[in-house]
Amino acid sequence: MAYLTPSGRPCACKLTSVVIMESTLTARDRVGVQDFVLLENYTSEAAFIENLRRRFGEKLIYTYIGSVLVSVNPYKDLEIYSKAHMERYRGVSFYEISPHIYAVSDNTYRAMRTERRDQCILISGESGAGKTEASKKILQYYATTCPVTDHMSTIRDRLLQSNPVLEAFGNAKTLRNDNSSRFGKYMDVQFDFRGAPIGGHILNYLLEKSRVVHQNHGERNFHIFYQLLEGGEQDQLSKLGLERNAQKYHYLVKGCCPRVSSINDKSDWKTVRKALTVIGFHEEEVEDLLNIIASVLHLGNTQFGEGEDGETQITTESHLTYLSKLLGVDGPALREALTHKKLTAKGEEVSPLSFEQAVAARDALAKAVYGRAFTWLVAKINQSLAFKDEVYNSSKGSSSVIGLLDIYGFEVFQHNSFEQFCINYCNEKLQQLFIKLTLKSEQEEYEAEGITWEPVKYFDNKIICDLVEEKHKGFISILDEECLRPGEPSDISFLEKLEDTLGGHAHFVTHKLANGKTRKAVGREEFRLIHYAGEVNYTVNGELANQSVNSRTAGSSDNQILSQCFHREEVTTQKRPETAATQFKNSLAKLIEILMSKEPSYVRCIKPNDAKQSGRFDEALVRHQVKYLGLMENLRVRRAGFAYRRRYEAFLQRYKSLCPGTWPNWQGRLADGVATLVQHLGYKAEEYKLGKTKIFIRFPKTLFTTEDALEA
Ligand code: ATP
Ligand code: MG
Repeated sequence: MAYLTPSGRPCACKLTSVVIMESTLTARDRVGVQDFVLLENYTSEAAFIENLRRRFGEKLIYTYIGSVLVSVNPYKDLEIYSKAHMERYRGVSFYEISPHIYAVSDNTYRAMRTERRDQCILISGESGAGKTEASKKILQYYATTCPVTDHMSTIRDRLLQSNPVLEAFGNAKTLRNDNSSRFGKYMDVQFDFRGAPIGGHILNYLLEKSRVVHQNHGERNFHIFYQLLEGGEQDQLSKLGLERNAQKYHYLVKGCCPRVSSINDKSDWKTVRKALTVIGFHEEEVEDLLNIIASVLHLGNTQFGEGEDGETQITTESHLTYLSKLLGVDGPALREALTHKKLTAKGEEVSPLSFEQAVAARDALAKAVYGRAFTWLVAKINQSLAFKDEVYNSSKGSSSVIGLLDIYGFEVFQHNSFEQFCINYCNEKLQQLFIKLTLKSEQEEYEAEGITWEPVKYFDNKIICDLVEEKHKGFISILDEECLRPGEPSDISFLEKLEDTLGGHAHFVTHKLANGKTRKAVGREEFRLIHYAGEVNYTVNGELANQSVNSRTAGSSDNQILSQCFHREEVTTQKRPETAATQFKNSLAKLIEILMSKEPSYVRCIKPNDAKQSGRFDEALVRHQVKYLGLMENLRVRRAGFAYRRRYEAFLQRYKSLCPGTWPNWQGRLADGVATLVQHLGYKAEEYKLGKTKIFIRFPKTLFTTEDALEA
């Protein structure tokens, strides 16, 4: 890795004396080290955090660990994202210029073009750390700096406009983030041989559907509901049977938070409407989408009571009428679906639902309808982004892709359910990938250079991934078995089975202690997983109910979106249907496969405080994230053995003046020249190694001393 500036100066600085950089950098830029590998005390978490804090204090939000970018959310708009800034980073080597998301974007783009190898940028961090903003900045960088023709500008615009649409339907105000992504997203941007964007594809993961029917205090439902009510035209709302008042809708008042100061629902609605047009949605499709949004609100307001015969009845007829009209389903069938259940063992026979069951069936339908509509939306965006050979007159074979992964970070709430389980399992898998790839690439470089690799000790979280996904005895297998077993599955029997199979595993804990006593920290309906990033108690309450969806009525809908979504499921239903957990496991396995086939770059986002405030750096909070993002481990791996590696010619060019034997020009083999030079400089054998094309320097101090000699 060449740590050189355009003038050949090494790009390195240390806390005490500054050794770099470009002439354009100001003194402000020289705060701390811009690459953690240069920290003298690289094993010290305190030194790591102090470096982050000092830089953050100077609004230097980006710092490297080798090629990994660490980003701290500034919670305010910084003047570092202009077109002029983009230009500064264009075509410039990673280490020649101060760390930036544009440096990662540009480096990835150039690697894709020169090496013709697919790339991916993995963005991780907890909620509110800045993942989505980072992914948007990367996309904007490509949209602005890549060559485009008229045809391609359509694709470029669609790529950009897919964001406001997906955010409207998939993001919500939470306690942690006013614009929190409630789904995971992987987006491929496809470039042709000229480096112009010609297509895209989005994979979405696990939308947090429970939010449709319930929000915690201080949180909201998905943005689109409020946008429609605030921004929709009056006659449109009338047609949908809606009132312009979010307070009227049960599904929108649970969090007691209809308005958010940082959000303008009315103008966001306009943006989304425009974006839908740019992406190519037909009017009828938009209408079908709005019908679904409205029907979810009507479902939420559908109430039940007891009829004369003691059976549960719908008491809000007007909502049922609207529902039937908006969803295009037969009224009596809908009424029956909400108040009766089919007895699968007895053909068409139905039995009445209790009040609680009817409420649950209503909520399940609302979640399923919204979830399917979201899936449809992504599919529709994908159609619009798909590479079209005839339009671009360009060969698909010669194109390459850059994938952007913006996926939920590790999550621990007071009550953690199936959704948190999936999110945290996903993070385990990504951590596993990170370990594999970082170690692998380091190892490959040492091997290529013929340098002996000194393994670093690190926690391999494969043991936790196995605990979740192993065939026959992993968590998901047990869940599947319990769900698909005849009879009513119960949460308690599921928990017992978990105990039987996983009890005694180092990363699985229940309330039962080995000595027969009770562990207080874990409830009776809970189990605890000891994740690589921390301990989380999950409640199994409702775990099993989460696994099935109500697709009975929606399959026969006149609404194009609904009938497509539900029909597909019915047609493909296998003898042994997949549970939501298995589906998620399989989609993650596919994602990992996609990522493994690409050259990865990493952006690790950190949230500086919980108050969404600029200029505030809460050390304890940052320390926690540094720990669970595995940054110290990352740094240790990166420094395993050697802090620097530099090609022989660059090293000689830079320091040849320090040795009479190599000055003014070394005539022999480059490796011999470097050997002569370092001998003259008095490098001790343990301080360096000579590889095939590069010198590897173990400690930053050695390089700093050499640099100081140059300055003297
Ligand atoms: P979640 O997991 O909840 O989706 P996230 O990591 O995607 O969280 P973002 O939505 O990207 O977080 O960021 C949260 C907020 O922080 C943004 O809405 C914005 O206000 C602010 N923010 C993040 N990154 C930046 C940045 N680089 N510059 C200015 N503000 C930022
Ligand atoms: Mg996000």
